[in-house]
Amino acid sequence: MSDNSDKIIAVVGAGIVGLSCALWLQKKGFQVILTDPEDPGSGTSSGNACTIAEYGCVPVNSPELFRRLPGLLFSKNSPFSLDPLYVLSNPGWMIDFLLNCRPHKVARIIRLLGKLVAKARSGLDPLLDMAQAHDLLSQQGFMHVYRDDREFDRARAANQARRDQGVEFIELNPGEIQELEPNLKLAFQHGLLFEGIKHVLDPLALCQRYADCFQHNGGRLLRQRAVEVRHLQQSVQILLDNGDLIDANRVVIAAGAFSKMIDGVPTNLLKLDTERGYHVQFSNMQHLVTRPVSWQQAGFYATPTNLGLRFAGTVEIAGYSKQINPRLVRYLTRKAKEMFDLPGQPDQEWLGFRPSTPDALPVIGYSTVSEYILFAFGHQHIGLTLAGITGKLISELANGEEPSHNIKPFSSRRFL
Ligand SMILES: Cc1cc2nc3c(=O)[nH]c(=O)nc-3n(C[C@H](O)[C@H](O)[C@H](O)COP(=O)(O)OP(=O)(O)OC[C@H]3O[C@@H](n4cnc5c(N)ncnc54)[C@H](O)[C@@H]3O)c2cc1C
Repeated sequence: MSDNSDKIIAVVGAGIVGLSCALWLQKKGFQVILTDPEDPGSGTSSGNACTIAEYGCVPVNSPELFRRLPGLLFSKNSPFSLDPLYVLSNPGWMIDFLLNCRPHKVARIIRLLGKLVAKARSGLDPLLDMAQAHDLLSQQGFMHVYRDDREFDRARAANQARRDQGVEFIELNPGEIQELEPNLKLAFQHGLLFEGIKHVLDPLALCQRYADCFQHNGGRLLRQRAVEVRHLQQSVQILLDNGDLIDANRVVIAAGAFSKMIDGVPTNLLKLDTERGYHVQFSNMQHLVTRPVSWQQAGFYATPTNLGLRFAGTVEIAGYSKQINPRLVRYLTRKAKEMFDLPGQPDQEWLGFRPSTPDALPVIGYSTVSEYILFAFGHQHIGLTLAGITGKLISELANGEEPSHNIKPFSSRRFL
């Protein structure tokens, strides 16, 4: 390995992706400075559905969506919400998203994501070793459930696509579902069990563990927002909102959905937006379920966490406002109570901002303006899963190695 001890890399954003990049860069011997105005992992990375989704190669983009869209848009019982004013003022992302719902585009996305998620463990496991964080994961598998034949038939093509990518699962009948998850109140006619899948018991604690490990290894954690990146001849300067400048050999932009809001980095030219998502959580109710269970057609997961039973999912296209949509919170609460016997109201409501590109592929690699600016964002619904492998690939690039996975399809150039 080359001696990188005199090379400084700045990482902007301490979500799960930025933290994973920071640890992998430390593994390669770089000095790393990580900057984020918020607590590590406290953004979108804290409130997700917690699964290491090695089955997660099927995007939201789907030819089916055109048929389902009116129902999704206009039903009160829908896990989807769209603010027409926001979409009309930013039409580009939505148009591109719909263009990426064509069958040949979806098939390509599935192929590319399938290959990437298959490498998820090779990026995650070394970080769990490094941060001694294996205790924050459980390996009880993952289950999809379907109310009736209609729901199951609708998912048939997606499930076949998973199989085609080498994802293994077992089909379950109602008795087997009940045996595995006896507290399910609602009858489900079909289920799929993905054995061996892990889930994180507390994603915020995982991020904090990573941050502790990072600092223990000599990493500097700054609590500042990066305002601007200036690329010099063979290095970069990062202007922070307190006026300080970081001089670094390279910078990695890993600010999730907010990556397009930093001056000097041409991320504003990329089609990055946010698919907002919600969770409601019932404290001390996690014993009701053994593993994450996704009621797929209802658009959410029930996940047992260390803090409670979490119902996470939904998609809302409505921009970056922090205002919670009460309809989606009510929707998740209602569905949670249909699924399990749950007392009272949830103890926690949460909104997160998935960093999403219209082609559901992350952006990993050099920026369009400089090889000293690296991009690591846009992981949409599977950022917890892909953070480790992203960090690994970024560290290989920074180290001058040929990346161990083909990252050309994830280049920011595809948007130019
Ligand atoms: C409801 C829901 C369920 C999900 N379930 C799953 C799941 O089961 N499995 C899975 O793999 N994924 C899941 N995801 C997706 C996953 O949570 C995200 O893809 C992932 O958290 C994105 O991580 P990130 O580090 O890119 O972004 P973030 O977690 O948003 O982190 C970005 C960080 O950058 C910081 N930042 C922003 N601007 C600046 C700046 N200018 N300077 C410095 N710092 C800045 C922010 O403060 C933040 O800390 C889910 C998401 C949602 C919403």
